[in-house]
Amino acid sequence: MPRVEIDTKALNANWRTLDALSGKARTGAAVKADGYGLGATRVAQALHDAGCHDFFVAWADEGVALRQGFDETGYGDARIYVLQGVSLGDVPACLEARLIPVLSNLAEIAAWCEGLERAGRRAPAALQFETGMNRLGLDAAELPVVRAAVAGGALDVSLVMSHLASADETGDQTAAQRRQFLAICEHFPGVERSLANSAGSFLGLDYAFELTRPGIALYGGRAGAPSDGKLTPVATLTAAILQVRTAKAGEAAGYGAAARLTRDTRIATVGLGYADGYPRAASGAGVPLRETRSGAMAFVAGHSVPVLGRVSMDLTLLDVTDVPADLVEPGTRAEFFGANVSIDGVADAAGTIAYELLAGLGRRVERVWR
Ligand SMILES: *Cc1c(COP(=O)(O)O)cnc(C)c1O
Repeated sequence: MPRVEIDTKALNANWRTLDALSGKARTGAAVKADGYGLGATRVAQALHDAGCHDFFVAWADEGVALRQGFDETGYGDARIYVLQGVSLGDVPACLEARLIPVLSNLAEIAAWCEGLERAGRRAPAALQFETGMNRLGLDAAELPVVRAAVAGGALDVSLVMSHLASADETGDQTAAQRRQFLAICEHFPGVERSLANSAGSFLGLDYAFELTRPGIALYGGRAGAPSDGKLTPVATLTAAILQVRTAKAGEAAGYGAAARLTRDTRIATVGLGYADGYPRAASGAGVPLRETRSGAMAFVAGHSVPVLGRVSMDLTLLDVTDVPADLVEPGTRAEFFGANVSIDGVADAAGTIAYELLAGLGRRVERVWR
């Protein structure tokens, strides 16, 4: 079976690297999408052991599951923020699980306040403001309504946040977002602020505020900053070779006969495919839109080897002609990303990003913690 091995030490080391960059600010962690595909509870517990206490999920359900995981293991003090806010129906579960919703529009604020009133409870919420991404967030023009809710005692704001659209790129959007964010925060004196994702965490203390929210960098993916080199790969995806065949020059391999063999070729057939989240766009040949680029590389018995032909649902072919024959046999595991194959390199070859490779890891890929 395909397997992803997760290196707890590397995860913790990456968190500490980011924490060292954030000065006095607390360093949180984005663990949405089941901890970027690796398992939110295990990721969060490992990061909690490193000193992290602030966790960001996308949905209330993810937050409830994470709280259960924490409670079962005695990590009661963790803060869990729900980035995609709440509906009225979610409020009881949020209260029960002590989740902090990130409210991004007036309807959500109204739903949250009504839910609190019905429950006869007070609880903190975070507010997200729009500063240029045009994705989720309150507009500055809505500040008077928000401030009225705060002044009336219905809304207890514990964090004000916004999200950077292009912290991993040059250009002036990032600085402009920061200026807008500062102007908004002035309406919430004394309330904690959070702006930086992974890429933002590398922009210096001006972006750290009181809390940072890195995700991909913790998992060893490229955040788009020069000092990324210090981050360590966390996830290693491997699968076993099922068969080794030799084909003659002139023959073809895989669906669509997309790979025409230009030499006698030893082909290793590996039990991993796009159903496991290994993208078809990583194919060595035969995928439209990507004809000018070569496919991804894998790693077998100490050698880098190319993906051959089209990745299929459960199987991928590797050209292992250049690996000594006695090192490649059924059962040998091939690495598709990890310590020897950069996840960002695979993502580049497939026209995607490391986030998508991790978040898309299939359910049948076994998660093994080291
Ligand atoms: C996903 C997410 C993050 C983390 O982003 P990375 O680029 O993975 O560091 C931070 N904040 C918000 C609002 C997010 O959606």
